Amino acid sequence: MSTMDFDRYVSIRGEVINVLGPLYENPIFRKIRWRTSIGKQRDLSLLGNLIHRKFRSNGSDPLIIMGDKSMQTTTRFHASTQGVRLCYQLHRLGFRVLLLDEYRTSSSCPDCQGNTTKTNIKRLNPRPWQRQLRPEVFIHELLECQSTQCKSECDGHSKKWNRDLMAACNFRRIWNAYLNGRERPNDLKVQSRDGDGDEVAGRVENA
Ligand SMILES: [Zn+2]
Repeated sequence: MSTMDFDRYVSIRGEVINVLGPLYENPIFRKIRWRTSIGKQRDLSLLGNLIHRKFRSNGSDPLIIMGDKSMQTTTRFHASTQGVRLCYQLHRLGFRVLLLDEYRTSSSCPDCQGNTTKTNIKRLNPRPWQRQLRPEVFIHELLECQSTQCKSECDGHSKKWNRDLMAACNFRRIWNAYLNGRERPNDLKVQSRDGDGDEVAGRVENA
C-alpha cells in the first residue's frame, strides 16, 4: 500500500468516525459484541471437552498436529480468521499443539513413500432413501497408490487413501522421526527452489 493511499484512508476514516461513532455508542452493539464473545468461549470449551472426552479419557496426553504452511500463504493479505487462533486457544486449554509444514503430507503414500494420484470410486449410496433414484454414488477426492508394495498388500488392486487419513499418518511419521532424532522423512521434505536445502521447521508449543 502506498503512503498516499494510507493518508486517504486515515482522512476518510476520520470523517466516517464522526458519523458512525455516535451510532456505535448504542448499547445494542455492546450487547452483540458481548454475546459473540460469550458464544465463542462456549464453542471453544465445548471443543475442548470433546477432545478431552475422546482422547484423554484413558489418561493419555494427545498431541494435536496442525498444518501451518498453507495458512501463512493463504492468509497473507486477508484479515485473520478463527482457525488461525485455534491452535493458540487449544494450547491455552492445556493441549500439546504441534505446528507442522504440511508439504506433501496429503500426496505421499505413508506405507511405501511413493507418489499417489487422484481417483474416485463408486459405492452403494449411503442414504437408503435415495437408493431408488441413485443406487451408487462417487467417493470423490480419494488418492490411490500404484506401487508394487501397496498393490501386493491389496490383492493386486491399487491402495486407496482418504486424504485426511493420509495427512494424519504422514504427520505421525514426521513426528516420530523428530522424536527419534531424525530429520523429516525424505519423501516429505520441502525442496527449496535452488534445490540444495530441505529446511523444515516444526515448532512445538508445549503445555
Ligand atoms: Zn503406497
